[in-house]
Amino acid sequence: MIVGIDLGTTNSLVSVFTPDGPILIPNALGSTLTPSAVYMDGEERILVGASAKDHLINNPHTATARFKRLMGTDKTSTLQGKTYTPEDLSSFVLRALKADAEAYLGETVTEAVVSVPAYFNEIQRNATINAAKLAGLTVRRLINEPTAAALAYGLQDKEAENTFLVVDLGGGTFDVSILEMFSGVMEVRSSAGDAFLGGEDFTNRILDHFQEQLGRKATDLSAADLSRLRKLADQAKCRISDEPRVSVDYRDGEQAHTLTLSRDTFATLSEDLINRMKVPLQRAISDANLKASEIDRIVLVGGATRMPSVRNLIAKLFKRFPEHSIDPDTVVALGAAVQAGLVARDAALDDVVMTDVCPFTLGFETSHRTGPDGQDEHGIFSPLIERNTTIPASRNTIVEASQKGQTRIDLKVFQGEAPYVKDNIPIGSYQFALPYNRHDYEKVDVRFTYDSSGVLEVISTVVSTGQSKTLIIENAPGAMSAQMIAKRFKELEKIKVHPRDLAVNEALISQASAAYANALGVQRQEIGFLLSEFETVLRTYDNRAIEQGRRKLGEYLSAIDGAGVFD
Ligand code: AMP
Repeated sequence: MIVGIDLGTTNSLVSVFTPDGPILIPNALGSTLTPSAVYMDGEERILVGASAKDHLINNPHTATARFKRLMGTDKTSTLQGKTYTPEDLSSFVLRALKADAEAYLGETVTEAVVSVPAYFNEIQRNATINAAKLAGLTVRRLINEPTAAALAYGLQDKEAENTFLVVDLGGGTFDVSILEMFSGVMEVRSSAGDAFLGGEDFTNRILDHFQEQLGRKATDLSAADLSRLRKLADQAKCRISDEPRVSVDYRDGEQAHTLTLSRDTFATLSEDLINRMKVPLQRAISDANLKASEIDRIVLVGGATRMPSVRNLIAKLFKRFPEHSIDPDTVVALGAAVQAGLVARDAALDDVVMTDVCPFTLGFETSHRTGPDGQDEHGIFSPLIERNTTIPASRNTIVEASQKGQTRIDLKVFQGEAPYVKDNIPIGSYQFALPYNRHDYEKVDVRFTYDSSGVLEVISTVVSTGQSKTLIIENAPGAMSAQMIAKRFKELEKIKVHPRDLAVNEALISQASAAYANALGVQRQEIGFLLSEFETVLRTYDNRAIEQGRRKLGEYLSAIDGAGVFD
């Protein structure tokens, strides 16, 4: 069985395609959303999800989150004194999702369709594939998140020719895509985005506002207090989507504070973030050679599109309200399952030919001969496959040697949108020989072929001799080699994921600890009492008693919080 996986910045989901359509698979806590957070205990055991997220608040040195933003970079996180790459951390999340899928399906799961932001570059896509390998999963196909959303809405089944705009504001990324249905073929016409704009930025604005109300700077607060305040800011942000004014209680030392936020204040605090959304929206439309009025349907993806200000912006720009009949948090995972069904050639779905686009420009380094003295200007980026080209794509160009009598060419391949290669990402290079020709500049035909699995083939053919040399770029430099993956797989294998039933108890303990940190007086005493009672009962290994204790503590926490893991 091939599963669909939405590996999100904030939450991750796993899904599967059934004869009745795509469905979401619940985790051990019964939720289909698993926070993309990892906690490591002192014995090299990891916990993923809600309890890890709670540990972020209580023990920030043992837990981490938001590592999707670092995918493809060499920035690491330290947990319990050991260093982990973003691929390692993502692999832990994928391992947990794989375990949940296996428990639900009753079979071993080894293959997945994994979604990535349309804006992810080659290195980030490879990092995602490597994270899956580290989790024992083979990625059958990566799917751009907006494409997955369109599949969930069944836009591939529409008879009429239609143009769709998919707007995805998640926790950490903003993606805009224009998709077109044409003669039964879905085509991504353009994609644009901002890899550093998401719901968390809106939360941070509220966090700053709350700190101002408290008269505290971020540097005055401990990491745990700051995390606690951030959680309240996030809750306020979600509630303000439905209420005109919200207030939350925060305990600062022994002092209790009521922090407030009105919709108007939130609008002012986040005005520039909303304005930043206009740029990728406009770019996607102009790259697709369209006008706003030519868009037939608008689909919303990502929890943060629940914000009325986001919907209002879209309504204002497109003079029409966006569709949101599918929960924006689950739409990508559902689409990934549809794609998994397509990949497996499941009979329940019509075979749809899908095309996609290259989300970035691929090119190589050249020099320009400038000035009468023939001086060369080096480091110029020569694009060959332009951003938003439908893939698979193959393009060629003729390049000339920079000198007569030159016997070697260094071809350096880059990805990016900047005019100079120093500002783009190097993804591969190779050398090839030229025949000695003292009278002329030798010519070389350079061909790039980019396919839907993200493999770039570079073929250089010397025009005068017909001799050619091929370079296949699968893994960008900085990414992991097969041997490195195998070695890291062995190392990470030693780290155990908490068993699923243990995860339920751990989640409850960490939820109780977080509630204890935020409570005062009698309520605090009561949580402390129930928590120690539960920890005692856990040591008895008496399943019935554990179940009872779990229910008692869970019900109390749900009653005071209204948002417990056992809701
Ligand atoms: P995702 O990465 O798609 O899971 O998006 C999660 C983001 O959506 C987080 O920043 C959440 O705080 C945000 N979010 C979820 N629900 C709401 C809501 N009702 N109003 C505003 N933002 C929300």
